[in-house]
This record gives sequence, C-alpha cells and structure tokens, in this order.
Amino acid sequence: MGWDLITKTPAQRAAANLSDYPRMRETFDWAQARTRLSGVPGGGLNIAYEAVDRHATGPRGDATALRCLSATGTTDVTYQDLLRLTSRFASLLDTLGVRPGERVFSLLGRGVELYVTALGTLRHGSVYSPLFAAFGPDPVRERIARGDGAVLVTTPELYERKVAPVREQLPGMRHVLVLGDPPPGTVSLADELARCPDRFDVAPTRARDMALLHFTSGTTGAPKGAVHVHEAVVAHHVTAAWALDLRPDDVFWCTADPGWVTGTSYGIIAPLTHGATVVVDAAEFDAKRWYANLADQHVSVWYTAPTALRMLMRHGADLADQYDLSALRHIASVGEPLNPEAVVWGAQALGHPIHDNWWQTETGAIMISNFPAVDIRPGAMGLPMPGVDVAVLRRGDDGRARVEGGEVTVAAADEVGELAVRRGWPSMFRGYLHDDERYARCFAGAWYLTGDLARSDRDGYYWFVGRADDVIKSAGHLIGPFEVESALMAHPAVAEVGVIGKPDPVAGELVKAFVTLKPGHEASDELRLDLLAFGRRNLGGVAPKEISFDQHLPHTRSGKVMRRLLRARELGLDEGDTSTLEAPV
Ligand code: AMP
Repeated sequence: MGWDLITKTPAQRAAANLSDYPRMRETFDWAQARTRLSGVPGGGLNIAYEAVDRHATGPRGDATALRCLSATGTTDVTYQDLLRLTSRFASLLDTLGVRPGERVFSLLGRGVELYVTALGTLRHGSVYSPLFAAFGPDPVRERIARGDGAVLVTTPELYERKVAPVREQLPGMRHVLVLGDPPPGTVSLADELARCPDRFDVAPTRARDMALLHFTSGTTGAPKGAVHVHEAVVAHHVTAAWALDLRPDDVFWCTADPGWVTGTSYGIIAPLTHGATVVVDAAEFDAKRWYANLADQHVSVWYTAPTALRMLMRHGADLADQYDLSALRHIASVGEPLNPEAVVWGAQALGHPIHDNWWQTETGAIMISNFPAVDIRPGAMGLPMPGVDVAVLRRGDDGRARVEGGEVTVAAADEVGELAVRRGWPSMFRGYLHDDERYARCFAGAWYLTGDLARSDRDGYYWFVGRADDVIKSAGHLIGPFEVESALMAHPAVAEVGVIGKPDPVAGELVKAFVTLKPGHEASDELRLDLLAFGRRNLGGVAPKEISFDQHLPHTRSGKVMRRLLRARELGLDEGDTSTLEAPV
C-alpha cells in the first residue's frame, strides 16, 4: 500500500533549525561545526565540558539540566548543580587512583546518579561504559571483563543479583560503589563522595581520546566493545540541532534506556550540549504515565522508539486526546523499523508525524533522518545528515557488500544492497576494543559497512530492508544470538541451540530458541519452563521468550546451525526461499 507524502508548510520549514537542507548538504563541513562548541579553555575537547561547564558558567547556569521523576517525587538539577556533582565524582575517581583512559561502568536505573557517573567519568578523563540494568549476570560479566572495567557504580540490589555471583571472575574490577547500604565487597558512593572536594578541573582530553565504550552484538562471537572518542560530541551536538531540532529552551525527553547507545548519545550528551532540560523518568513504560509526562512536563521535543509507539497505538487515539500535548514541537523515533502507520498515527493522535531516523552503535550519532523541514515519505528512514556520505552498495553472493580489490560498487536506485557510510564523521567508532581484526573487517576502502540492508529511491530517501546478518532486534535492543545460545548451552540438558528473532507485532522480534537435548533428556513442558527460567536467571532481559525442542537442527556443511532456515521454518516459508527473510517490515 502506498502512503501519501507528509508535506511541511513554508512556516514549518522556516522555523526549523535546519531550514534549508539542500544548501547545508552542499556547504557543510565538520571542521566548521567544531566551532559551535567551546573546547576546554587552554586546549582539548571534553564531552563533559561541552555538556556541563559551558552552560554552568554561562547564562544557563540556573536552568534545569535534569528533571528526574520517580516514585518519591521530582528532583531538579541545574547546570551549576551538575557541575558540582560531576566534579565531586571526578575527584572521587582521582582519589581512588583511577587513571585517565580506564573504564568506569554503570549498572543503574534512570536517576541523577547515572548522569553524574557518566559525566563525572568523562570529566575525569576516564572512559564511561553503560550496562543495561535488565542484563543478567552472564552479559554483565562478559562486558565488564572484555572492557577491563576498573570501577562499577550500581545499586546494592543489582549488585547482589547480577554482580556478586560473578565477582570472582572480575579480578580487575577494583572498586564497586553502591547507591545504598554497601554489601560486602562494595563501598557506599555517598560516603566516598562526602570525602571529596566538589571542584575538579575538567581533564583536557584530546579529540581522539577514548571517551565511551558501548557494547553491541554481532552474529558470532562475544559482544563487541565499540570505542568512541571525545570528538563524537561534535556529531551529537549538530545532529541533535538538525535531526531533533533541539534548542536551549527545549524540554527534551529521550525514552531510550541509558544502558544502550541512544540513551547516552541522546539521553545524556546531545541535549545537555544544547543547554536543554532533560526529562528523566525512573519508571517503566505505562501509556497513561507517558502521556502525563509529555503533558505535565511540557515536553517540546520527544525522541522515542517504534515499540513504544506501537504500544501507545494499541491504547488508541482517545487516550492521547485526554492530555494536553500542545507543548510538543517535534517527535522522532529510532532503533528499529518504524511502520508507516505509526508515522501517520503520530500526526493524527499526537499532532505531529513521527520523524524516523537511523543510526547504530558504531556510527555514534544519527546518520539518516527525516528532517523537520523536509517532507516525510512514511516508511522511509529519511535523507543523509549534512556532512555524512551514505550509500547502498551492491551485494555479492554472501549477501554483504561486494568488495573487489578493495573497491565497492554503488547499487542502482531501488536496488537492495548493504548500507554503508563513508569514513570521516566525528562520531565514527575508532575500534572494537581488543579486536582490531574485527574492526578492519567492517571497512571496504573508504566505506564503513553497516550490516544493514537498504535501498535508496530516486530522490535519495533511504528505506530499511533488513539485517544482512542474524542479529535480533527486540523492543529496540540489539541481541546477539550467539550470546543467548552460549548461555543456554550451559544447561545440563542442552546439546545444541539455535536462536532467532521471531517476528512480533509490538516488539518487532522476540528471542526464540530451538534446543536439541542431550541423550537421556526428554522434551517436556516442565523442561521448557526450566530452560526459560535458566535463561532469565543468567541472561536477564535478553533471555529467550520462547523455546522449542528440535532434535534435527539444520546445519551448514561446516557444522554451524543455520539460523536463517530456522527462521524460514518458523515463518512457514519454503526452506529454499530465505530471501524474503530480509523484510521484517
Ligand atoms: P544499535 O547499534 O543497538 O543502536 O542498533 C542499530 C541497528 O538498529 C541498525 O543497524 C538497524 O538494524 C536498526 N535500526 C536503527 N534505526 C533504525 C531505523 N530507523 N529503521 C530500521 N532499523 C533501524
């Protein structure tokens, strides 16, 4: 079914931060964009300085930086408060002997401490790495170990459940700071902070110094630690201005979980570099609560995700009608395919169409967007960011971009190929930690290969088609099948496992495991429940939601489980035809 173009009025175009997209695409360059930021006085570039200091010491010092909503009430933190809090945290890291460049992990829910940990770490010159609080002990251990975590900030409850069972396997983790009464092996963050001064000059890091470590998943092997540098802040700042239309007087709400990249790039860094007010809600999704947040906090720019929008759509437009959403100026979505129905529903129920945009952990910032001043083609991810060169590359037999002698071929209009981005944007990842070979494999000449399949139409709009590999997107979270398979393999009854994403109308995909049992074990509902519980205990929120027993998993000649075939079986497709599997939308 075709969807009508959503056109923007001349007044809407004129009002947007990026009012003339074609001109900016011609003229923009990143070196010039760098002058939009201050830089550390005396030299250097540090994300925390751009997000905190330059506002704290300027006219927005008294402005609310964070508005934190929780069961116990609302806490406002000004930019000046944030300067003091992050300075004290940086002093603490210094006192503990943490060296610049060492990794500080957080395993926290949404609250002031998470922001202070992230920005205090950057201020100190060490590297911030967030963990998804719903992870179980296996993914937590794996990431802290691979990231050489020296410090962890968490809560006593999360520590007891997810870290204490694996602590012995993390000898390099020297300090665990907790938000309440410290269990054995940890210390109280509040007590430690009380001993530290609330002045700490921001570290004069260089643009190319490592700042952030974000773990992401591939089809095979352990999770990959994507390395980002302080210079990424230039892209965070500019993309937030243009794709999200952010301004200093905005109230901004990014609903992404802070344990993943969007929650850091756009939940913490980008809006603060603009001096905006960031809404932080500790609670989980609830349709009425979300509408109440939008209305009561006068949210003007809202950055959310397709799964959440689909959940709101299920409650109908009548519910939205009960709230005053007149403060809203712009709504954007990211992380998974956004159905055209949702784009149009936004216009009808919320007063604004949803502006889809595309990026991934490795790109660090938005690369493709439906810009506020540009007409929307519902279902398309949008147009490339000024300063970012995107292409769809022709594919070889393995389904990935074909590379011959280091050269690639750009696909014709409307031809499906692998989405690629030309090197040279400031938030490009600079490595996978400890895995140079894997990093090198992501590039073909000047192009970074994204692993996504897409096509571009004759007018240059990009359309998502699917993944070129087997990674799963469930409720916006990227899940590596290998990590889930490895965890289930630890169960005594399991001989082999194949994990796939099973299409789901709300979450996009659900994690489903096909399990072959060892001799002596019988398939039963009891064993299925036991395996589901085992998965949840070890993996947490990324555990399989469904398990099927299958004593005849399909294999490649080299003996690997063929996940594509499992997916075809699940969808009831002809097993010879796995090509249609590329189109989850
Ligand atoms: P992550 O690295 O966890 O942020 O996941 C990035 C992946 O999410 C991309 O490579 C895509 O597969 C998917 N993704 C992100 N944004 C979109 C979008 N707007 N439409 C479709 N898929 C998306």
